Amino acid sequence: MSTSAHSPATDQARTDGTVTDRLVESNVQYASEFSDPGMDAKPVLRVAVVACMDARLDLHKALGLALGDCHTVRNAGGVVTDDVIRSLSISQRALGTRSVVLIHHTNCGMESITEEFRRELEMEVGQRPAWAVEAYTDADQDVRQSMQRVRTSPFLLHTDDVRGFVFDVTTGLLREILPAS
Ligand SMILES: [Zn+2]
Repeated sequence: MSTSAHSPATDQARTDGTVTDRLVESNVQYASEFSDPGMDAKPVLRVAVVACMDARLDLHKALGLALGDCHTVRNAGGVVTDDVIRSLSISQRALGTRSVVLIHHTNCGMESITEEFRRELEMEVGQRPAWAVEAYTDADQDVRQSMQRVRTSPFLLHTDDVRGFVFDVTTGLLREILPAS
């Protein structure tokens, strides 16, 4: 076998195991070089970033963030759902964040599905999901709506510094979206 001929045992485990096995393996390496940074749970920059879960968006690298700097809340689309408001409420009220940054991106998977997704699910499994799909076709407009949802939430303490962006997955650049006036 060519793999065993030139691969150490760890690489062999990577090819044989599941993807999760591979992640756990990487964690052992990470922990071996890790030292306790001695931080508490409050983000140093007092900012929460809400972003799409897209695999092409490396939030820490793209925004120059370091360990401990921010809260990151991610879901499909980077949509401001009730659960995102839950996280932001805890982030602000219990852990001291003040600013909110919202990030959608170009070429998002959310643009290729519609609310029909929910009905198809219902037809398939016999149960309608309680959640909305929150699909959108215009990222700029959805960022504006997300900003509005954050700004008008009665649960948040700080809604004066809420900014929204679209990240271009081909250039790595953020483009700011101005709120609806
Ligand atoms: Zn996306």
